[in-house]
Amino acid sequence: MVAEPQDAQKRKLDEEGGSDAKRAAAGGAAPMEVDSAMVMRNEDFSPQLLRIYYDRLFPFLQMFRWLSYRNDPKSSSAAVQKDFFLRREFTFVLQGDIYCRYQCFKDAEEYKAKVMAQQPVRMEIGAVYTHPPKHHNTVIKDAYKPVERELVFDIDMDDYDEIRTCCTGATLCPKCWTFMKAAIQILRRALTEDFGFQHLLFVYSGRRGVHCWVSDTVARKLNNEQRSAVAEYLTMVSSGAGKSRADLRMNGCEELHPAVQGAYDICKKWFRDDANGILASQDILRKGPHLANILEPMSIAEKETISKYVETHPQANSLEIWTQLEKVADERTQSAVTFKQKAEAKMMLKDVVIQYTCPRLDINVSKQMNHLLKSPFVVHPKTGRVCVPIDPDHVNDFNPLEVPTVGRLIEELNKSGDIRETSLRPYTHFFEVNFLQKLEKATAEEMRSTAGVDFTDF
Ligand SMILES: [Zn+2]
Repeated sequence: MVAEPQDAQKRKLDEEGGSDAKRAAAGGAAPMEVDSAMVMRNEDFSPQLLRIYYDRLFPFLQMFRWLSYRNDPKSSSAAVQKDFFLRREFTFVLQGDIYCRYQCFKDAEEYKAKVMAQQPVRMEIGAVYTHPPKHHNTVIKDAYKPVERELVFDIDMDDYDEIRTCCTGATLCPKCWTFMKAAIQILRRALTEDFGFQHLLFVYSGRRGVHCWVSDTVARKLNNEQRSAVAEYLTMVSSGAGKSRADLRMNGCEELHPAVQGAYDICKKWFRDDANGILASQDILRKGPHLANILEPMSIAEKETISKYVETHPQANSLEIWTQLEKVADERTQSAVTFKQKAEAKMMLKDVVIQYTCPRLDINVSKQMNHLLKSPFVVHPKTGRVCVPIDPDHVNDFNPLEVPTVGRLIEELNKSGDIRETSLRPYTHFFEVNFLQKLEKATAEEMRSTAGVDFTDF
């Protein structure tokens, strides 16, 4: 989404130099990949920088427009719930991990004023309640309830550690980011095609994950049971040591369920075909227990074919070994006679592709309407990077290591003096044009059709 300016390239080199120096000092060898996302310079984040960021760059008005869904507190229309935004819970996390829950604001001005006054290191967004959250303990018990909330998903690189070979722990590189690209596209396909949702916002979590906010009215009104059902439907794989195959059931059908087939088609691209694909970049068939696990349920003859190939081709990479596995699967398909044999042959490697590529969702985040999730556009205090939106149509253009830090943004602002000329601009522009305007248009149409309100002059 953003072209890398010269300055950013220089910065990256600086960061790389810094990380290598650190490793050399620790006596470690320089690794193949650069974990510069985790190496933060002093000028990437500080309370002073954050203050300027909130004052000049944080898109309070756009965030208010999103989270108020055209319920403008200044409107005189009967269809508008004037206190809608005021009933939304925000949580401020202050320096020292002090959580201040039940924050709420009547409009964009008050939202900004309170953030400026308290300078939260992080902000989280919760549900819209029956009453303004600041009154949560003054209303009759049980009367204070969440009434709506975006359907949210959280995907974190931590959950990929069993199949990630390039980095461990907090580190991240373009190779393992492939898991997130696949997750975004698989999730988007299911949410739009299987559920018909249209207003999806994918956001970089600031370190090594992605959040998804589904903002359609129907999604916001789902109760906890329905949220659980959606999240479970979308959970096609469970992680676990030694697990190399997704549990796909054919239920007596000869073909895969269309939703599974849809996911598989995307998985295959990111697993095998992409230049930075999982096979090529993680080299999983040459590392760890994966090949042995994949071979385990296969016949003795099939196992021998692959073992012999690996022995006689010690230089073969994972892609080449995979090609051999595909040949074995083809042979099995051709020799299959019974319905069961045919069905098994069809599934033989698809369950592996799905297991290694499908998103690992942190399902607990999605299940509860009142679960808090980090707000888009806040700054991750450990990396200094802004939690910017990701364009799901151009996942290859997004590199988490190039996401601007608050330090870089303020430096750019100091140079140009123009808030429209920082590298945050492409992200706020995307948020405005590809998400917010479409959402506002749809919301206006819904209001018009349900209450006969005309929003043309709105
Ligand atoms: Zn990596």
